[in-house]
Order: sequence, then C-alpha cells, then structure tokens
Amino acid sequence: MSEVSPIGAGAPAIDWARADAEVVEIAATLIGIDTTNPGDGTGPGERAAAEYVVSLLAEVGVAADIVGPTPDRTSVLARIHGHDRHRPGLAVHGHLDVVPAHAPDWQVPPFSGAVVDGILWGRGAVDMKGQVAMILAVIRAHIRAGITCPRDLVLAFFADEEAGMVHGSRWVTEHHPEHFAGVTEAIGEVGGFSHSLSGGQRLYLIATAEKGISWLRLIAQGRAGHGAMLNDENAVLRLAAAVDRVGRAEFPIRVHPSVMSLLSAVAEVSGTDFDPADLGPTVALLGSLAPMVGASLRNTAQPTGLTAGYKVNVVPGQAYAEVDGRYLPGERTEFLARIDELLGEHVRREFICDDIAVESPVAAGIVTSMVEAIGAVDPQARVVPYLLSGGTDNKALSRLGIHGYGFLPLRLPAELDFLRMFHAVDERVPVASLQFGMRALERFLRIA
Ligand SMILES: [Zn+2]
Repeated sequence: MSEVSPIGAGAPAIDWARADAEVVEIAATLIGIDTTNPGDGTGPGERAAAEYVVSLLAEVGVAADIVGPTPDRTSVLARIHGHDRHRPGLAVHGHLDVVPAHAPDWQVPPFSGAVVDGILWGRGAVDMKGQVAMILAVIRAHIRAGITCPRDLVLAFFADEEAGMVHGSRWVTEHHPEHFAGVTEAIGEVGGFSHSLSGGQRLYLIATAEKGISWLRLIAQGRAGHGAMLNDENAVLRLAAAVDRVGRAEFPIRVHPSVMSLLSAVAEVSGTDFDPADLGPTVALLGSLAPMVGASLRNTAQPTGLTAGYKVNVVPGQAYAEVDGRYLPGERTEFLARIDELLGEHVRREFICDDIAVESPVAAGIVTSMVEAIGAVDPQARVVPYLLSGGTDNKALSRLGIHGYGFLPLRLPAELDFLRMFHAVDERVPVASLQFGMRALERFLRIA
C-alpha cells in the first residue's frame, strides 16, 4: 500500500492537469445524459448516467454495483478500502438525477454541457453533476497516483433525489444497507461552497443540519351543488381560507446552535455588533443567502399549489392545495399540530412527502478536517456551519445512524448567486470552481 503524503509537504503525485481536464469532461458528459426527474415517473431515469459512472470507476479498477427498484431507476455503489482499519467508513455521495429544464428559456441548450469562457453550462452544473464529476475525478486521480485514504470510502451516486428520494437513497438504504456497513459519517451536496460578504470576506458554509420535510396535500370537504344556489359549505372557500391562514402564519423564531454560530461568525467578520435578540440585521448581511438563512430560523409552510372545480356553475365537493412545509430539528410534532390548528375542521391533510430533519455534530473531527482542507486551498476562508432549509440524501443515510454533512467544496466568484443557480434557467458553474473544489476535496479525503 502506498504511503500518504504528509500535508504541507507538497502535493502528492497527482496529475492535476489531467484531473482538471477530466472534471470538465466528466461533468459535461453527465450533463449531456438527460436524467430529468419530473417526479411523476415519466423521466428517462438514471440508468445511462449510472453506467457511465461505473465505466469511469472500472477504468481505474474500482468495482461498482448498480442497484435500484427498477432497471431504469438506478444508483451506483462502490467501496474503496482505506489504509487505517481502525477508522470507520466515510460515505461520499451525490445524485445523478436533475430537475426538468425548459429549453426555450435557456441561452444554451440545457443538456449541452457547453463550456463558454471558462463557465460550464447546463442542467446539473451545480445540482449536482459538477460535484459528482469532482468526486469521480478526485478518486481517479488518487488511484492513479497510488494514494490511499485512511478511511474506507463508500461512494454512492443516487437516483431520484429531486423527487423525494423514494427510488434512490431511501430505497438503497432500506434494501442495501450492507453497502454502508461500518460507515459513520457522510458528505454530500449543498455545503462547502463559498459566499462573499459585501466587504469581500469569504465564508464557506458547511451544512451540519437539515430541516425536516412535510410536503402536504390539503383536502377541503364541502357540499357539491349548483353555482346559482346558496351554499354555506363551499369547499373552494374553505380551502382558500385555510391556505390563507397557513400561508400567513408566523412561526416562532428558534435559533438552532448551527445558525447561532453562523450568525455570530458573520457579525464578527463583518465587524458589526451581534444581538441574539435581534438577528435581522445580521441575517441581512448575508445578502443573497438571507432568504435561506431566514428560513432556517423557524418552521415554514409555503402554499405551492391549488386545484379545485371543473365547471364555472358547479360548486365542487372537494378542493385541494399543496403546501411545502419545513420544520426545524426536533419540531415535527409541534409543527404539524400548528398546521392542524390552522386548517380548521373541514380541511384535512395528507403527506406527499414526510421526511426527517438531520442534525450532525459540529464539534467533530470531520468538521476540523473540512476547515483544514478548505483553509489549505483558500487561506482567506472562514468556514462556518449552517442549517440547510432544504433536504438531501443525508436524510436517508441518517436512518442508518450516519451523520451527514453538506460538504462538496466550491470556491465561487463573489457575484455568483449559488443558491439561485439550483433548478434555475441558465444553471452554470465556473470551471475554476470545480477545480478548486477538487483540490479541497482531495485534501479532505486524505486527512478526514
Ligand atoms: Zn441536488
């Protein structure tokens, strides 16, 4: 087994020129494989992307398994043994599916994977084929250079992250938990990216917690009848009133420890006062991240859909709405009780998706390794924890007792609004951001 190069003693024998070219080629090829996941079962599936990933691993001698509930909803799993048998395994994961793209809205064809002026364009460039390519390019470079990491690495590339994870990480962890034997921690998407404050200070945000998901269908019950008659049990009106109550409800502020450390760090690097009793001014300093961080201070319930009626002169017997509910770690029961109160007696709810919140230790060796890895590549970095207001495959892994973190590093230009690139028209990422990310990830895997 080859020796691990000590940190700070110069880069190990990695062919960075080759890795820099590969990360772009792999990302562009993955973007070119349409893995649109509309969530209604009509997409092309992830099979072609999974087979491509398997071929990339096979080229460097890593055997990988393709698993999934059906031949086209496939995830890829592989294990690379570490050299320290006393250390627990580490899962490194991404997802292969993407949300739909409406091509006429785009400046470039969304599945082209075009590189223009150093920017990689296409659906999945940031969410998250670019980072899947980073993982693969780093692993290939490690193996070619004869570098072995201390921990067993379990690589997982999941299907179906964008539509509730049912055919991806949830299925895999339920049917093939053996792949994660001995794994205690995981890294995945939506963390490790940089965010520049207006004064130029560069934060790197690591997701150490995730809100839980309560996607709800509301069903209002009423009395069907002729639209020309009096009707005091109108389902449309009952639904509209309930949606209004839910959408306008103010949920109390609860500052999770990860959010507290994020905001106190933001105040500190900005040189402003930090008042835990009045967080608004500190949240505002985060600029484009403020809507996400604001949402991490409380439970939220956003009405997102309405369906009712089939003819203008008919009062329907039922009316439906959809609500995207997100609750803080530990607050599921309280959140749903409040929603029920707001719905009132004629409106009931069903789950479209019911998934757990995630909370991983901030004071952990793995976080120290993240700070060190990013700091080595960007000495101006200030690494901070945060609470992701969305959800990732870390939820499914946490059911196996694995502590998940959002950490796939990207150094981004100050003007790039990273979170707005998710699911966006003209989704794109600078090639240099991926190349930075590879260097931070490469170092992290050697020291984690
Ligand atoms: Zn994603």
